[in-house]
Amino acid sequence: MRLDGKVALVTGASRGIGRAIALALAEAGARVGVNYAASAQAAEEVVNRIREAGGEALAVKFDVRSLEEVQAGVKRVEETLGPVDILVNNAGVTKDGLFLRMKETDWDYVLEVNLKGAFNCTKAVLQGMMKRRFGRVINISSVIAFSGNVGQTNYAASKAGLIGFTKSLAREVAGRGITVNAVAPGFIETDMTAQIPEKIKEALVAQIPLGRVGRPEEVAPAVVFLASEGASYITGQVIHVNGGIYM
Ligand code: NAP
Repeated sequence: MRLDGKVALVTGASRGIGRAIALALAEAGARVGVNYAASAQAAEEVVNRIREAGGEALAVKFDVRSLEEVQAGVKRVEETLGPVDILVNNAGVTKDGLFLRMKETDWDYVLEVNLKGAFNCTKAVLQGMMKRRFGRVINISSVIAFSGNVGQTNYAASKAGLIGFTKSLAREVAGRGITVNAVAPGFIETDMTAQIPEKIKEALVAQIPLGRVGRPEEVAPAVVFLASEGASYITGQVIHVNGGIYM
């Protein structure tokens, strides 16, 4: 599970699951680009934690929706840390609402961040990976892609889209030593799920066989594994990290 000498870029790494992934990749020895959209201070804190532990990291601001911004951000990471070997498409948002009331802007926003964002970031690193004949692309999907959820047609579509993207790209680039996989977390305690009313949370937890919500630190090891040499024969797959809520 060591990643010494490798360079990783984690989108949306200032908070929540992305933050835990960035810290875990660094702990495994990777140099890490810590992307964020707005939370500069939080991203710097992640970078400082990595540096204090003896690692190398760089905070890099870009909006995953903009290919131009992404390309400039990837350039900065590559100039400072080296060519990106591991891309974790983690940046994600929700804008929930029943379909009948869902605004077009809410649909577009979620699809643009969650799905187009993965397109943009992968575009920016894939050619380099092809040339070097090594790469790991890891997409953070969701249990909602598989189960669906009331009020989340946009989110479920974006996360199911990531699964199709994962499998198709995995087939396209397998011959070049690049693997493409997805991790589908269940209900994880982060800012994203903090707004869920207590009553609904209780009902959700009651459906989780392990009897509790997950922590970001419980998602990160699956990503480290997929990035590692130990996962060299795994591509086009989904690892579910959900306490058993979907089997
Ligand atoms: P979170 O705590 O809300 O953090 C979201 C992260 O995404 C932040 O770092 C944020 O950056 C970044 N971000 C948002 N919009 C962005 C943009 N346009 N460009 C670049 N970065 C952007 O979310 P989370 O719960 O950790 O979720 C992380 C991923 O896991 C998401 O893809 C989410 O869909 C998925 N997931 C979460 C759960 C869960 O239960 N929490 C379950 C399944 C899947 P700023 O801090 O700068 O805003």
